[in-house]
Amino acid sequence: MPSAKVLVIDDDELLREFACEALSGQGYVVEKAEDGRAGLKKAASFEPDLVICDLMMPGLHGFEVCQRLRDKGSADLRILVTSSKSFEADICEAKKAGADAFMVKPYTIAGLQAQVADLIGRPAPSGKAKGESDEKDTMTVRTGGGACIPAHADPKKTAVTVRFWGTRGSSPAPGPNTVRYGGNTACVEIRVGDLLFIIDCGTGIRELGLALMKEYGDKPIEGHILIGHTHWDHIQGFPFFTPLYIKRNKFNVYSVRGSSKSLERVFRGQMAADYFPVPLNNLAADIHFVELEGAVQIGPATVTYHYLNHPGVAIGFKISAFGKTVAYVSDHESFSRLNGESAINKRQDEDVVDFSRDSDILIMEAQYTEDEYKYKKGWGHSTFDDAVARSLSAKAKHLVLFHHDPTHTDEMMDEFLDYCRERIRKAGSGLLCSAARERVSISL
Ligand SMILES: [Zn+2]
Ligand SMILES: [Zn+2]
Repeated sequence: MPSAKVLVIDDDELLREFACEALSGQGYVVEKAEDGRAGLKKAASFEPDLVICDLMMPGLHGFEVCQRLRDKGSADLRILVTSSKSFEADICEAKKAGADAFMVKPYTIAGLQAQVADLIGRPAPSGKAKGESDEKDTMTVRTGGGACIPAHADPKKTAVTVRFWGTRGSSPAPGPNTVRYGGNTACVEIRVGDLLFIIDCGTGIRELGLALMKEYGDKPIEGHILIGHTHWDHIQGFPFFTPLYIKRNKFNVYSVRGSSKSLERVFRGQMAADYFPVPLNNLAADIHFVELEGAVQIGPATVTYHYLNHPGVAIGFKISAFGKTVAYVSDHESFSRLNGESAINKRQDEDVVDFSRDSDILIMEAQYTEDEYKYKKGWGHSTFDDAVARSLSAKAKHLVLFHHDPTHTDEMMDEFLDYCRERIRKAGSGLLCSAARERVSISL
């Protein structure tokens, strides 16, 4: 019997080599690929019996690689997904995308060998579901690798201003106890010169929409909306963003593809007849969904992203322009705190710090106290201590605590802010620290 062929797709070189050595030694014929696109290309020529695929890779993520491998119809192919993310939602989505098994990193040589032997020895999966039939994505483009997106910007205007319209995480929390810090869910306006960026479309975007209508009057609004992930608290305000209903306006909505469907289909879904009276296609503005496969240049701003540790596909953003940088790292749980301090988990945590390094404004989620975290471990969020430690390591200049828990009152937020400032003072750092408040802005 010929040796079974295994293809390892992982952007982490150390893990790629580790898997390769572990399996070559067992007589498998092993090939490697460093990202999703290279992996698909290699799979077409190499025709592996088993693909070992990472989830969070630049370009195409692992969910999409699985779907595409299954769509190609290679019925005998076994797929093993590996990831440092261990959320139930990810395991479930990976299996829906076509994975036969899921292994949480770090794994041992023996563990990998046993899992591969088990999969190769199993009968071929019968009638593995192919990806969902693709209804046409008429508003979608895919881009990355430094692509330039034209944007009208006045070259004389070089200020960068951040304004918070929604500061809350998980659920809106209006009422007398959240008046000062705000009750709307995630929405941040960033002006790069006169260019409009919006990060996330939580319920805060409704008020932003009204303010923009007032500011622009009869003039067209052009905006670039970045979506960290598509959980409710980050997209729920989108259908209530009035500028979308006006024909002269133009919006690009950027994120990575969802775990099981396109970005456009996620937004179309929340506006389906069961949930909302107006379908996505009836929005009059010129709207494009841009699925990112790398950094993009939007007018004077370079926009990069980084995968975060949160159930499903979630990313943080960094906007750099005119020598100033704003980073947005929301909905993220420390890999090491959740899964143990292994070398790979530490490396993944350091990557998040590196992504935020030297940012002038670092908008960082801090949802829980250390006590609360004991009960909320595995929910994909950080503590105040995590946010402070990460910001100190990243040598950021101004930490803005964000994604406030819906149960945290204004008085509690004041205390948490004092607590964070005290920790920073004790660390001997000059890091500024504030907690995001609705309608409050910071200029660079
Ligand atoms: Zn959230
Ligand atoms: Zn979330």
